[in-house]
Amino acid sequence: MIKFLDLKKINATYEAAFQEKLKAVLASGWYILGNEVAAFETNFAGYCGIKHCIGVGNGLDALVLIFKGYIQLGKLQKGDEVIVPANTYIASILAILQADLVPVLVEPKLETYNINPDLISEKITSKTKAILAVHLYGQLAEMDAINEIANQNNLLVIEDSAQAHGAFLSKNRMSGNLSNAAAFSFYPGKNLGALGDGGAVTTNDAELAKTIHSLRNYGSETKYYNDFIGTNSRLDELQAAFLNVKFPHLDDDNNKRKAIAKRYLSNIKNDKIRLPFWDFSNNHVFHLFVIRTKNRDELQHYLLDKGIQTMIHYPIPPHKQKALTDWNNLSFPITEKIHNEVLSLPMSPVLTEKEVDFIISILNQYN
Ligand SMILES: *Cc1c(COP(=O)(O)O)cnc(C)c1O
Repeated sequence: MIKFLDLKKINATYEAAFQEKLKAVLASGWYILGNEVAAFETNFAGYCGIKHCIGVGNGLDALVLIFKGYIQLGKLQKGDEVIVPANTYIASILAILQADLVPVLVEPKLETYNINPDLISEKITSKTKAILAVHLYGQLAEMDAINEIANQNNLLVIEDSAQAHGAFLSKNRMSGNLSNAAAFSFYPGKNLGALGDGGAVTTNDAELAKTIHSLRNYGSETKYYNDFIGTNSRLDELQAAFLNVKFPHLDDDNNKRKAIAKRYLSNIKNDKIRLPFWDFSNNHVFHLFVIRTKNRDELQHYLLDKGIQTMIHYPIPPHKQKALTDWNNLSFPITEKIHNEVLSLPMSPVLTEKEVDFIISILNQYN
C-alpha cells in the first residue's frame, strides 16, 4: 500500500535527534516558553524574512490571535467584514467568526483553487476591513493583486500560510511576509510538522507582535500582571524543540515535493484527469497535489484497489457544513465544483520515485 502521507516514515528519519532534544528539555526543567521556543521564533522569523515570529498553540489560534490583536489595537472592530475565499479549509473561516468578525466569501479561480482577485472588489462594503488570503495546497495566492486592492480600500491583509511554509515569489518575498501578518500551522501533516499541535504568527508590525506575544500568554508580559483579556495558546517547548530539528530540512523537503509534482505533471496523461496549474516557479510548495476528475469517488476506489491511498481536500465546502447552517442555501458554484471533483494524490518528501512512477502508470491506465 502506498500511503497518502507516511508520517511515521518522515519522522523516523529524525528519531535520534528527537531523543537528544527530549533529553535536553527534560534535563532543563523548563517546559513552557523556554529556549527552544525562543530559538524557533528567531530562526523562523529569519527564514521568513520578517521581524517578528510568535509561537502559538496551533494554526487556528494563530489566525484568531491576529484578528484579536488587531481588535485590541483598535484596527478592527467586532462586526467588521473580512473577505475570505469560499474555497478553503474551514479553519480560515472559523478564525474570523471566533474573533466576532463577519466572513464574506469569494469564489476561487478554477485553475489555481485560490481566491479570484477580480471578484474581491464587488464584495467590499463600508464594513470591510480586511482580506484573509489563503495559500491553498501550498500555492501562493495572488498577493500583488490582493495587496493592491487592499491599498486602494485601506484594508488589512492577512495570510493563512498554514499550507505554504517556504513558498516564495523571489528571494525576499516569502509566504509569511507578503501581508500585514501571517498564520502558520505546524500540525504533523503540514510541510513543517511537529509531533503534536503548534503554530506561529509572523509580522513586521511591532505593536501587533507585542500584543499577540501577550495575548497568547493570558494577556500578560510580567507574570501575574495582566494587561489584556488573553488566552493560553503558547507553542509548546517540546514541540518547538522537535521543530528546531526538522526546520533546517524544510527547503530540502519542499524541493523533493516540487520534484514529485514535476514528475506527476509531466507524465500523467489521461483525458479524464485535470492536473493542477503550476508555472514551475517557487510560488508552490505542494503541501498537496490535487487533481480533478468527474467521477472522483470512482477514481479514488480504483486507486485504492491498486494499493494507492488518496484523500479529499475537502469533501464539503465550508458554506455547506452543518456548523454553518445559515449559509447552506448560498451558492458558490466554482467552490462546489472543486469540492465535488478534487482528489489529492500521495505527496511527501519520503515518497520514492518508484512509487511515483507506479501511481502515474496506474492513473494513465484509468478509463
Ligand atoms: C491546517 C490549517 C489551519 C489550521 O491549523 P491547525 O494547526 O490545525 O489549527 C488553518 N488553515 C489552513 C488552510 C490549514 O490547512
